[in-house]
Amino acid sequence: MASKTKPINEMKVVFPALSVNESFARTAVSSFIGLMDPKMDELIDIKTAVSEAVTNCIVHAYRDKSGDIELSVKVCPDRTVYIKIKDRGCGIEDIGQAMEPLFTTHPEEERSGLGFSVMESFCDDVKVTSKPGSGTTVTLRKKLGVKL
Ligand code: ATP
Ligand code: MG
Repeated sequence: MASKTKPINEMKVVFPALSVNESFARTAVSSFIGLMDPKMDELIDIKTAVSEAVTNCIVHAYRDKSGDIELSVKVCPDRTVYIKIKDRGCGIEDIGQAMEPLFTTHPEEERSGLGFSVMESFCDDVKVTSKPGSGTTVTLRKKLGVKL
């Protein structure tokens, strides 16, 4: 789900998959998208979805290993925002199953298996590409309403 039009603004940050960086990722995206004067609820939706995707990189992709998360944001002229969260961790064997509500590979850790459902309900589209052993890329798309 790459944006077809040339973005009017974009950014990329790379940081290690540490749980302390989950709030950094949320804040970084929020401050960048804040430049577009979004509605408060749109910003909260985006922060929540980013939070789920970044948490998945930390707890699933790398688990007990270390590695980087690449977070990039593109803003298109029509105010559509694309947010890409990329890891080079373990990858996902069956993406369809992973995205089913309540599916989790770690029920013993009290994971509820709702991360992807949250992303889907707070964004206009969620695309996942993954290769076992190579990593996963989640792309979130959301169109912001007219400028306040
Ligand atoms: P919750 O998000 O509710 O705490 P969860 O993380 O298990 O639980 P989802 O976020 O919906 O639920 O993810 C479903 C499953 O997809 C995970 O249990 C995990 O097996 C797999 N998964 C998700 N993201 C990644 C990733 N970046 N790398 C590897 N596996 C992933
Ligand atoms: Mg999750």
